[in-house]
Amino acid sequence: MSLRQNLGRRIRGVMMSRLPGMITCRAIDDFIVDYLEESLPAKERVLFERHIRSCPDCRRYLAEYRLALAAGEHSLDDMDEPVPEELVDAVLATVLSGDA
Ligand SMILES: [Zn+2]
Repeated sequence: MSLRQNLGRRIRGVMMSRLPGMITCRAIDDFIVDYLEESLPAKERVLFERHIRSCPDCRRYLAEYRLALAAGEHSLDDMDEPVPEELVDAVLATVLSGDA
């Protein structure tokens, strides 16, 4: 993320925290799990959806979160298993080679 985007995000966060009925990108982080599990109270859900509609960053974040959840659904039972060394090596090699 560029410095400029980062600054824009921070400014928007401050603005939203001062507008009544608005929540910040930070709050989205706290709400997202409950939202996807549909256990978010109606009031927070409205705020969450309002924010998602007005914030492209969080819209993308939500979409990516959904995809990650869908991809991880089959391996939820294995969450406590250590990550295989070979996988770590493979990911590192990809990242270091600049293909990621
Ligand atoms: Zn946001």
